[in-house]
Amino acid sequence: MTDYDYDLFVIGGGSGGVRAARIAATHGARVAIAEEHRYGGTCVIRGCVPKKLFVYASKFAEEFEDAEGFGWSVGERSFSWEKLVAAKDQEIARLENIYRRNLDRANVEIHDSRAVIEGPQTVRLMSTGTKVTARYILVAVGASPNLDNSLPGIEHAITSNEAFHLTELPSRILIAGGGYIGVEFAGIFNGLGVETTLIYRGDEILRGFDNDFRSAVREEMEKKGVKFVLNDSFEKIERLPDGTAAAHTQGGQILQADKIMFAIGRNPHTRDLGLEKVGVEMDRIGAIKVNPDSSTTVESIYAVGDVTNRANLTPVAIREGHAFADTIFGNNPWTVDHSLIATAVFSQPELGTVGLTQEEAHERTPNLDIYKSSFRPMKHTLSGRDEKMLMKMIVDADTQKVLGVHVLGPDAGELAQVLGVTLQMGATKADFDRTIAVHPTAAEELVTMREPTERLRG
Ligand code: NDP
Repeated sequence: MTDYDYDLFVIGGGSGGVRAARIAATHGARVAIAEEHRYGGTCVIRGCVPKKLFVYASKFAEEFEDAEGFGWSVGERSFSWEKLVAAKDQEIARLENIYRRNLDRANVEIHDSRAVIEGPQTVRLMSTGTKVTARYILVAVGASPNLDNSLPGIEHAITSNEAFHLTELPSRILIAGGGYIGVEFAGIFNGLGVETTLIYRGDEILRGFDNDFRSAVREEMEKKGVKFVLNDSFEKIERLPDGTAAAHTQGGQILQADKIMFAIGRNPHTRDLGLEKVGVEMDRIGAIKVNPDSSTTVESIYAVGDVTNRANLTPVAIREGHAFADTIFGNNPWTVDHSLIATAVFSQPELGTVGLTQEEAHERTPNLDIYKSSFRPMKHTLSGRDEKMLMKMIVDADTQKVLGVHVLGPDAGELAQVLGVTLQMGATKADFDRTIAVHPTAAEELVTMREPTERLRG
């Protein structure tokens, strides 16, 4: 590989790109990486990490209320958005440094520059205009939030990118989109005391999740104060003289707010990257078409992470980057199994899920036993909070294999991680049944559900 400046040039310093660069370098490859914004990418800089910090912040209001049921008198409370944003920024800066340090330690050459592909093995660094060559190029540039640019007044809307840096906390916010980001941010703003309305074009939020949980998340969020406008979408947005905004909906409503946030999905960040020029095929939304080994239509160019629109989750991008580096530079070919991915929505309450929804399972398997349980978490017996926890296990009635487990309630994301291991191992209902409960926990419900609540046959 000595005819090239590098063995590998990685474009994009997010989770997938950084993992691939480090592992390739560990295998002895000469690696360079370029990032036009900040190392860490969407997840660390403007996604999962700051989002979760904001979720923690937004939960304290309820914690203070709940404390009273346990004998505490919580005095005067106040919240400083500025302090939260500053603390979050400090933590993000720390993490970005760790990303850089880890790259440096692995002997990866770091470029703070946009990089554009000029040939199958040529990249131009835009900050200096320098052209470099590499035996392989890995595209890991991620995705960016969509805005409905056909909507009059869309320039008054923000996305999650800006939500992390608002100079002040709005009094009222309107959020468009009923997916991960819309639902998570609705919980954050509502918890911080913002009057929050979520507008969604369909009849229930979180399409793709188990139907029972979609409605349960919405109902629990409604109890906490989030307003939902379903089966409706914006027609136009107007800026009012007082600086606030009014959104007119197709259904004839006029909704006023200080901020309007769009969370209607994300598109791959492939524009003007030079991909078309060298023959890398993309789909309708600009996602790079890849084979299971992340190779593209150009032999020397690979792509991992959200830019390929497979499963748009950080841990998946990390795995794809790792598999690519092991395969190409480590003489250890392997591919990522995208079929069973545990995931969590950091809504309030939290939703953790692994495997099939009841609807998906019923399409594939005629005979199912459904075990469902809804109960008040122990903490709320004293706090008095009207919040239910919901758990569901979907079992193939013929093989007794567990096909899916869904949990709504505190720490559901943590549970989903462990449940993911059990489903990876092909756990049956009997495996859960013979596991002794951890008492008193909410999770023990998963090993004590004896009789199906529903038997679906045929
Ligand atoms: P999602 O795809 O999750 O949701 C998009 C939402 O916007 C859906 O409700 C969708 O409706 C709606 N929508 C799409 N287009 C339009 C439109 N033109 N007008 C009105 N509504 C529209 O995207 P997000 O932006 O919420 O998140 C992006 C991705 O980021 C997620 O897919 C996820 O993979 C990842 N993510 C993961 C997180 C986690 O793991 N906890 C957290 C945050 C993001 P419909 O359902 O009808 O299509």
